[in-house]
Amino acid sequence: MAPPNRTNTIDFDAAKLQRLGFTGKRQPKLKPVSLAELHRQLNLQLQTSLDVERIVNLFFTEVQRLVSLDALTYLHQSSDVRLEFGTLASHSAGYRLSNEGEYLGELIFRRNQRFDEQELNQLESLLSSLLFPLRNALLYRAAVQSALRDPLTDTGNRIAMEQTLQREVDLARRSLQPMSVLMLDIDHFKRINDQYGHSTGDEVLKAVATTLKGKLRNVDMVFRFGGEEFLVLLSGTCREAAAMVGERLRLGILELQYLVQGRPLDLSISLGCATLLPAESVESLLRRADNALYVAKREGRNRLSMAG
Ligand code: GH3
Ligand code: MG
Ligand code: MG
Repeated sequence: MAPPNRTNTIDFDAAKLQRLGFTGKRQPKLKPVSLAELHRQLNLQLQTSLDVERIVNLFFTEVQRLVSLDALTYLHQSSDVRLEFGTLASHSAGYRLSNEGEYLGELIFRRNQRFDEQELNQLESLLSSLLFPLRNALLYRAAVQSALRDPLTDTGNRIAMEQTLQREVDLARRSLQPMSVLMLDIDHFKRINDQYGHSTGDEVLKAVATTLKGKLRNVDMVFRFGGEEFLVLLSGTCREAAAMVGERLRLGILELQYLVQGRPLDLSISLGCATLLPAESVESLLRRADNALYVAKREGRNRLSMAG
């Protein structure tokens, strides 16, 4: 653990807000305990979850039995975790967490009163009870995330697609927002494999996926549907807007300069676009997009076809 970054800094905006009475809800107060007892309880409690958010929240609540806090921030950028508990506060004590060289994120305790030396020592001591549960939760999170990704193209896999589609369809229905999907397939991909080998085919697949992700707002909404087929989920997107996105993707792949043996490959995709109908199921939406893709292929490839 690195020493606190000599914090006790004052955030004037937060201090001002507090003077003006903008303080949020406080955590419920638990019975105060000694440092040794708190260590014992933390060691038991933090083992009960593998969820990063739950572990940090439990830690925040429990630590207040010994040291009063107004807020806690936890950041772990490479895991895309940013958690904030509590309310704005003007003083802070920040720690860089690591265990045997493994970076485990930044934790910042916040309070409207200055922390004294004894409190900082207690907080530092309590951090040791957080390290292992936090490390396990981060590993678990990474494992769950990798189980939802296609390793070759770094897009969502079929499991992620099914989960996300159902969630987004439910959401679209509840919020009465439009939603569309694009089903797309690389044209004559078999020829690339036959001519240049499977590993070149794999590299082309990666390049196509990277281009698709680069042309979309939300890269988490691209899924590898099958071998050289992808599904793009466009939430909040109506038929016309989805057609524009599809066209942008088609042109993006057409313009992709993928060199094999010094010569650019002729690459194109065909796309089928479908927009969710009232009360339509996920299966029906996919079927309509697939039928539209089939039409685009039949009509000559390198084109977008809209589902009826
Ligand atoms: P079409 O324009 O009709 O889509 O023609 P196509 O050749 O792309 O279609 P087809 O479905 O006949 O062939 C798809 C090929 O994609 C066959 C399969 O070997 C190849 N493929 C599927 N998955 C992978 C993969 O992960 N890596 C590589 N290199 N090839 C793959
Ligand atoms: Mg194909
Ligand atoms: Mg195919």
